[in-house]
Amino acid sequence: MVPTIAAAARPDATCAAAVELAADAARAEGAADVGEHLGTRAEGDRVVTHFFAATLPGYPGWRWAVTVARAPRAKLVTVDEVVLVPGDDALLAPEWVPWSERLRPGDLGVGDLLPTPADDDRLVPAYLLSDDPQVESVAFELGLGRKRVLSKLGRDDAADRWYSGAGGPDTPMAVQAPDHCGTCGFWLPIAGSLRLLFGVCGNALSPRDAAVVSADAGCGAHSEALPEPPPVLAPPPAPAYDDGDDIEAHTPPAAADRAPESEPAPAG
Ligand code: SF4
Repeated sequence: MVPTIAAAARPDATCAAAVELAADAARAEGAADVGEHLGTRAEGDRVVTHFFAATLPGYPGWRWAVTVARAPRAKLVTVDEVVLVPGDDALLAPEWVPWSERLRPGDLGVGDLLPTPADDDRLVPAYLLSDDPQVESVAFELGLGRKRVLSKLGRDDAADRWYSGAGGPDTPMAVQAPDHCGTCGFWLPIAGSLRLLFGVCGNALSPRDAAVVSADAGCGAHSEALPEPPPVLAPPPAPAYDDGDDIEAHTPPAAADRAPESEPAPAG
């Protein structure tokens, strides 16, 4: 867009006329990437900026801005600076976002270090109450030595994330599960107040093995989903009863006394 000239700040006529001087200065920086003259803008008394189109690849809408000036009562115009500036419709880089806000789960690679800010509001110093009565009740006795523990905000964050994620109750697998994790023998409740809602799956055959699952999630490998049928036993023998006869002890003949099973017929 061609800059407009404010009525209250008309550009100095001598400086505004120095288009060739400004174009030469722009070409000294941009060489063949300096296009047509787009206009001027008064910067102050005897200070004027000339704009030229920039034809640099990848810089649509950018302009070369060449500021020229002259001293009072002097006719000599000199170049102050040459810069490449974006116009109204220029293609610009997205707004810069700090790396800590750009980081996403899964970005951390092997050997990477991720510093946690000292004022991370997901954590509180361990000597303060952690807002978790169940943690506090055992932490003192056990003398746990962690410097910081999850704050209430940190716990709520984790709970929201887990509950709405793959370990929550809204996944297709959980919806079609025969029963909930909370009734499953493979469910290992976690410590702290989150134990009421979350545990870790300990079933190697479940897709959620070793992952956090909510009590109302579930999968087809639920421990009680398909209990194995009891083994089929042989029918019991007929009941023995006393018929009044003496019981005869029967001793099987010794092997030497037994006739061979198939003796040859005697000759003649
Ligand atoms: S086996 Fe299935 S139902 Fe049982 S705890 Fe694991 S995910 Fe939940």
